[in-house]
Amino acid sequence: MINFTVGPVQSSENVRNIGYEQVPYFRTEEFSNVMKENENLMLKFSKAPNNSRAVFITGSGTASMEAVVMNCFTKEDKVLVVNGGSFGQRFSDLCDIFEIRHDDIKLEVGKSLKKEELYKYDNQGYTGLLVNVHETSTGVHYDIEMISDFCKKNDIFLVVDAISSFLADDFDMASLGVDIMITGSQKALACPPGISIIVLSPKAVSKVESNNVKSMYFDLKSALKNGERGQTPFTPAVGILRQINVRLKEIENNGGVDFEIKRINELAVDFRNKIKGMPFELVSESMSNAVTALHPTTASANDIFLILKDEYHIWVCPNGGKLKDEIFRVGHIGDLSIEDNSKLIAAFNDLIKRGIV
Ligand SMILES: *Cc1c(COP(=O)(O)O)cnc(C)c1O
Repeated sequence: MINFTVGPVQSSENVRNIGYEQVPYFRTEEFSNVMKENENLMLKFSKAPNNSRAVFITGSGTASMEAVVMNCFTKEDKVLVVNGGSFGQRFSDLCDIFEIRHDDIKLEVGKSLKKEELYKYDNQGYTGLLVNVHETSTGVHYDIEMISDFCKKNDIFLVVDAISSFLADDFDMASLGVDIMITGSQKALACPPGISIIVLSPKAVSKVESNNVKSMYFDLKSALKNGERGQTPFTPAVGILRQINVRLKEIENNGGVDFEIKRINELAVDFRNKIKGMPFELVSESMSNAVTALHPTTASANDIFLILKDEYHIWVCPNGGKLKDEIFRVGHIGDLSIEDNSKLIAAFNDLIKRGIV
């Protein structure tokens, strides 16, 4: 089996070996040290400004998206949501649930956000902007520098869901002036699902501290306080946090975050070169290194997903809803190699030979 989905993705052998071990008790100095190391490496890899913090939430990426909306915004805020697909829609739905005033910038499938579009909202009193820097559902990677300039100019609190982009695309939280960055364990971090991570700038930390969130589990004040001693308020997914520790150190020892981004970029470029001439159109006008979203011109995307899975033991990532037959995605994150790309290409060529695509 080769897994080219966008998460859970393939883990390295060291990460998998931890999954085999007994899960230790965690209110100990040893586990606190693991957590402090995790926090420091997360701050380093996201290039967070000095005095930033990282908290680890037991829950998938959406749990951290929800925690951020609850802890950082109130009914006084007026928020812009970049809504270019199902993950943008999720931020919009969260604002609805918590009655945060918001306007959505709706984008068509595969389209990036243009400056003219964004600057329609210039000087209009927005206090927050929520964006999924890589809208994984359609593979669009937004121009985060442009969004960052807009937020700096308007003094807007910038929240970036980088769940599928962290470790795959360049991202410098300090220079972009990003206030919150969110990621998750099962994307390019290549660990099992179950943990999501919120990196908070000093400004975000004070915002959280001055808000009174009505939640026990998602009270980030309490997560920050406990984190000072390398702990969490409640029992976390201890095993996954230990796997994250191994993985972060693996990246560090292999040359750091920039090397990992380069590695994923090379896989993406190799794949995109190899599919030239095949009956697949690129969906997105500006791609992340993490994923290539493809529109097959001669077959149903979902049929391709099913046949590859059942007959070739290769998993690509299907799309749901209206895009089910239109788009499938090939991920470049996780423990994959150039040889794996070649195996997928050989399978595509076989499908073409059989007249399936
Ligand atoms: C995967 C992903 C999420 C989180 O989804 P979960 O299923 O809750 O982990 C959120 N945003 C983006 C952009 C993603 O790719």
